[in-house]
Amino acid sequence: MTVLSDARRSARSLIGAALLCAGLFPAQASATLPEPLAGMFTAPSDLFVPEPEVTLQPDTRGPALQLVTGGQTTAKALARRYGVTAGAVRTLNSGPGWRLREVRLPHPGVARAPARPTSVQGYTVRPGDTLSGVATRHGLSMVDLLSVNLDRQSLDTLRAGETLNIPTRERGLLVRIKPGQSALSLIAGYGADLVATARANDVLPTELHVGDELLLPGIRAESFRQQLLAAREAERRAQLAYARQQKYEEYLAWQQDRERQRLQEKYARQEKYEAYLAWKNSPERQRQQAAYERQARYEAAQAAARQRTSAAVQQGASLPGRVQTASTNRMGGLAWPLRSFTLTSRFAERDIAFHREVFHGGIDLAAPFGTPIYAASDGTVSASGYGAFGLNVWTVNGTSTVIYGHMSRTAVVPGQTVHTGQVLGYVGCTGVCTGPHLHFEVRLGGQAVDPLALLP
Ligand SMILES: [Zn+2]
Repeated sequence: MTVLSDARRSARSLIGAALLCAGLFPAQASATLPEPLAGMFTAPSDLFVPEPEVTLQPDTRGPALQLVTGGQTTAKALARRYGVTAGAVRTLNSGPGWRLREVRLPHPGVARAPARPTSVQGYTVRPGDTLSGVATRHGLSMVDLLSVNLDRQSLDTLRAGETLNIPTRERGLLVRIKPGQSALSLIAGYGADLVATARANDVLPTELHVGDELLLPGIRAESFRQQLLAAREAERRAQLAYARQQKYEEYLAWQQDRERQRLQEKYARQEKYEAYLAWKNSPERQRQQAAYERQARYEAAQAAARQRTSAAVQQGASLPGRVQTASTNRMGGLAWPLRSFTLTSRFAERDIAFHREVFHGGIDLAAPFGTPIYAASDGTVSASGYGAFGLNVWTVNGTSTVIYGHMSRTAVVPGQTVHTGQVLGYVGCTGVCTGPHLHFEVRLGGQAVDPLALLP
């Protein structure tokens, strides 16, 4: 900045500055005004004060600006307008309604601090503060608070130690002038009132530059609040979606785990099956299998024999002319010939030397001497007396024969018809015998069968 040294140039510059400050103090004109303007003012001599006794010298202390202001313009306002401290403004001379001031400008290498309206103050956020709490404490609506804090990203996040702007006078929109913008373009763009804006900022809009802050009184950031509300909603939705995604991933992990487990089980089964196959095809197993098969064939043959026996008895029982009692021959079977006994030898058993030499074709039922022996089935007595089994009784019914052996005494005679339960004789030990017992034998078509298969 050049220090003006010529009095005439100084006067023109003073007028220029005065015109710029038209909103702050009455316009003044000079005698050298162009012709079309000259007639607009009553008497230039009345308006224009005599030139002050000032000698302007080249200044070596650094860049400075000298200018005339109205009497109401404070040093503070001037200092803010040029982005300097109040101490950098000096009054060189003054008269009624005007002052000659010198403003020492910051060194060109030092960036000027961005200007901002003094009515907007900083508030340092304390732990536990919320936006709405801070707004209420300062008697502000949420929109009023947001309107001077357009850098907020969220309605909720508020960190202790950060600074909030608080409007202490006019409420309005606090904007920063960006490259390509000017205070005037912003005022016009937002439709703010020019004079009200100048008052609210204590500065002429033309004095503000890129980077400075400008309060646009009466403009409210309603849409900004809406935007933050929308952001909050979007965040909530995003969190929900995130939670859903988490759940889904948990589910996927669970499913994969389950699938892995299922495969492991499958492989385990497969291994077991293969082990089984290996065992099944082993020579040892095949020998075992052959043994089982022989056993099964043997058991099947036995079962078939029993069935044949049972069928034959039934066939015999259904012969015409036979007397049947309700209590016997149920299922084609026999009745027990003794009421009380001990089974001492089974069919085909080789328990004693005699049974090893001679096939045991019946069962031995031990009981005390004289125990009554009852007919196991209906029939006709074919023999009663000494025979193959000592003192014995044979009864015949169709193709079936029942033998009661080793009696001590018989109670029937040959040719006699007997019914089930009828006394045939008494337990004894006649014939080949080691103790009192009944030898009970059943023959079907001449073939001895196991009586236990026919007894209840
Ligand atoms: Zn016997």
